[in-house]
Amino acid sequence: MQELLNRPKGLHRTVLIVDDELIEREMLGAILCDYYEIIYTDNGESALEIIKREKLTLSLVLLDLHIPKLDGFSLLKIIRSDSELWRIPVIMLTAEKEAEVESLQLGAADFITKPYDAPDVIRARVNHSIELAEDRIIILDTERDALTGLFNKEFFFEYARRMENQNNNMPMDAIVIDVNRFHIINELYGKDYADLILKRIGNSIHDLVTQVGGLACRSNSNCFGIYVPHIENYKVQLPMYISMIEKGLEDTRITIRMGVYLDEGQKIDLEQRFERAALVCRKIGSNYSTCYDVYNTALHTKELHSERLINDMDSALIEKQFKVFYQPKYSIKDNKPVFTSFEALVRWYHPEYGLITPDEFIVLFEDNGLIRQLDRYVWNEAAAQIRKWRDEFGFSIPVSVNVSRVDAFNPKLVETLKNIIENNGINNEDLLLEITESAYADNSQQIINTVVVLRDNGFKIEMDDFGSGYSSLNMLCSLPIDALKLDMKFVKNICNNQKDYRLVGIMTEIARLLEVPVIVEGVETEQQLKLLKEIGCDIIQGYYFSKPLPAEDITELIRKTVQGE
Ligand code: C2E
Ligand code: MG
Ligand code: MG
Repeated sequence: MQELLNRPKGLHRTVLIVDDELIEREMLGAILCDYYEIIYTDNGESALEIIKREKLTLSLVLLDLHIPKLDGFSLLKIIRSDSELWRIPVIMLTAEKEAEVESLQLGAADFITKPYDAPDVIRARVNHSIELAEDRIIILDTERDALTGLFNKEFFFEYARRMENQNNNMPMDAIVIDVNRFHIINELYGKDYADLILKRIGNSIHDLVTQVGGLACRSNSNCFGIYVPHIENYKVQLPMYISMIEKGLEDTRITIRMGVYLDEGQKIDLEQRFERAALVCRKIGSNYSTCYDVYNTALHTKELHSERLINDMDSALIEKQFKVFYQPKYSIKDNKPVFTSFEALVRWYHPEYGLITPDEFIVLFEDNGLIRQLDRYVWNEAAAQIRKWRDEFGFSIPVSVNVSRVDAFNPKLVETLKNIIENNGINNEDLLLEITESAYADNSQQIINTVVVLRDNGFKIEMDDFGSGYSSLNMLCSLPIDALKLDMKFVKNICNNQKDYRLVGIMTEIARLLEVPVIVEGVETEQQLKLLKEIGCDIIQGYYFSKPLPAEDITELIRKTVQGE
């Protein structure tokens, strides 16, 4: 009470007294008016109006049970169930002792019996209720996310852990929810709209856990976590959860995705379960055909393997675990195939996993940008090899190297390549550059700009995997390239699929139009070779001639060719 008495003027809390009896209203006001700003009203309806209007400043409501228009219990129920009002504590006023239990059950903070014959006790009770409510708000603010009102991550885990300890045998699933393409919503419509969307999602998630039981949090900007009783049939249940949450987004085109870790008796740490659910959620990405997925061990093993490869990359470069293989290309313009050049293809001799082919790590390294280091390594190795062969045989053998789509964004790409050429004392035409067609389609202008600069600097560009990247014919015509390399899938069935045969023909025509040679890779049989020759393809690469081989074996092959064996 002392602290209350010392409160400076102007910082008084406001108390609303609702009582239809003038005398009692005034008596109560007289007891409290030195310590609080008092608002008076005599009926339920006007009380509700005042409470709504003053919801941010009102510290307490003293509410008589029997008042006209809207009785005390009804008004109490409204306050307790309204998300904007429920923080305001209510003390019930009545002469009926037996109404006490019901008041408290309905959520009243306390109960004061009439007549008001102990002013000190009344003041103490009022003060106590206000302070309790304020403390609770402070706690709520620290444990809740301000935007959505859901728990924040720290308290969420704390309560989930308590829940787990209390009901030992009840299986609970961990679900991570993400908003698809949220950054675009933010950029296109601004922060206020994005916040509104998050609020709506937060409300729906709150309703969901209220309905099924459990806890919910906003874990970071557009990510939510829910900890709910185990779902038996997830294929039925998860779409239901998703539509419940998306219901609040019906007037938008915004969708969500869910990564789920099902509790099937595994004993793993709570946070780890959520990490796994988050991993699944990330894996779904913005894949529009899937909106949920559940964690499984295979995915985890694959993920761990990828993680391991990423971690091992640096030391692999230092220890030269990457080996460059060479696969010859042959011109088939003349009767007898004539060896023209090589393609450099990387292999990884991992100390634990043995030989790993590029399919397993190129995309992985493209995702995190590590490919730039690996490519630079391969280009250097290839350039050094070109020089070695030139020193041994007296002429240059061109080698094409693969240039990842990621390299195209490197502002120093041209400089890097020029340095490699210079350091190894070879020419720009010796190191041919293969860029996959899908890279052109993904970010055409960027690639085109890069390619133009590369060609201005004397490099030759081969478009790799042509036919897999959906370039527009229009774009093709303006494309600065020096060769078209057809995607392997067309060759595969060329002998027994008339359509593929025709397609190779059409693509060869396109190459003619662009006035560049056609290279066909993946040629494995004599029959394929015969048909490709018939169509008029220029250069062939494939197992029919040779698999990619290490430099030592290839050197032997060159030696034999040179000696005319
Ligand atoms: P790519 O550049 O299209 O290379 C051709 C792939 O076809 C190679 O697979 C090669 O071994 C394979 N191949 C060649 N002839 C035949 C054949 O007759 N039949 C069959 N079935 N396959 C054949 P590889 O070496 O596994 O490389 C796969 C892909 O990985 C390459 O496709 C390329 O996109 C990428 N890659 C390889 N090395 C590098 C590199 O150093 N840097 C970058 N960025 N990507 C690379
Ligand atoms: Mg290639
Ligand atoms: Mg290719």
